[in-house]
Amino acid sequence: MSEATKINLLDFNRAALEAFFVANDEKPFHARQLMQWVHQRGVIDFAQMTDLSKSLREFLSANCCIERPRILDRQHAADGTRKWLLGVDDNDNAIECVLIPEKSRMTLCVSSQLGCTLNCSFCSTAKQGFNRNLTTAEIIAQLHFAHHSLIAEGFPQGVTNVVFMGMGEPLMNFDPVIAAVDMMCDDFGYALSKRRVTISTAGVVPVMEKLQQVTDVALAVSLHAPNDALRDQLVPINRKYPISELLRACRGYVDGHRSRKITFEYVMLAGVNDSLEHARQLATLIVDLPCKLNLIPFNPYPHALYQCSSQEAIDRFRDHTASKGIITVTRRARGEDIDAACGQLVGAFKDRSRRSQKYQLSLKDVGGLTVAH
Ligand code: SAH
Repeated sequence: MSEATKINLLDFNRAALEAFFVANDEKPFHARQLMQWVHQRGVIDFAQMTDLSKSLREFLSANCCIERPRILDRQHAADGTRKWLLGVDDNDNAIECVLIPEKSRMTLCVSSQLGCTLNCSFCSTAKQGFNRNLTTAEIIAQLHFAHHSLIAEGFPQGVTNVVFMGMGEPLMNFDPVIAAVDMMCDDFGYALSKRRVTISTAGVVPVMEKLQQVTDVALAVSLHAPNDALRDQLVPINRKYPISELLRACRGYVDGHRSRKITFEYVMLAGVNDSLEHARQLATLIVDLPCKLNLIPFNPYPHALYQCSSQEAIDRFRDHTASKGIITVTRRARGEDIDAACGQLVGAFKDRSRRSQKYQLSLKDVGGLTVAH
């Protein structure tokens, strides 16, 4: 069988692998063996999987593959943050993922789509438009690379936390994201606890309702504005699912689960959403929900329309929400010197939505600039 027509087993979670083995007259427990080889030991060559019979290894080599994107580039920031650029579609397109080391954890920020369809006004990924959803294999490969690179470097624990805060809207690519989450949490995969995997959404309300039925990973919601008039501008999906519906979906996610909390993300934009009045409105909105609030200093990129709030504005905002009893954390930007901070993950891909073209034209209108990627 040619390489191109082989089945990529990296697309399969445990249930799908078991079904695959059964359909080929093999025992389902081979799924667990295979997962341990691939995800825990980092072995992707079937010939080395010595607890599988020789005939099964030959069958797998002939019909299947473990295919990951190619590493095109890796960068290491002064603060320890690392970024990988992974080539897909014969390297025509590329995705980025970022590893953020902290004292007690290693957090990997993964992408779920090539680009994004949501067009949030402050996000650099939005300016690049959209190409396609990532496959399960392309999502889990980001963790595979990062985890096994860390182990090879002498960090035996590897990746300890995953956040879906790279490129794309994970809830617009539901099935592949959920299959990848399965592998992240599977005891025979990466065995991460569900609290250490966070899906971040701009608020695709019907899918949030579906999400709580299939998983209980941590949920982060990109709120960014405390009223519909402003949120309609910053996060356009709000025009479809306004704040009241979004908060109802958040309540649905935590109700009946005492340990669950929503993390609200709020990007601090100077003069736009950072006044004391905004803080008051926000506190009133979320104070009754089991939640915490992450204030994210806006990370600039070339030709961004916004600036980051001043430290005083951020502190004033935080002091108010904290005084209402809301756990409020100001996130520190990481990896800025390699453009690895929130909203700076842009990868490199061919836009199919023509949004990047429109954006470049609009920049020409305001001064003849072009977008530097
Ligand atoms: N689509 C998902 C996940 C991707 S963005 C979501 O909206 O949640 C991950 C986080 O980074 C979101 O909260 C997003 O709003 C924020 N973000 C995007 N651009 C940013 C920027 N330039 N500076 C700071 N945070 C940004």
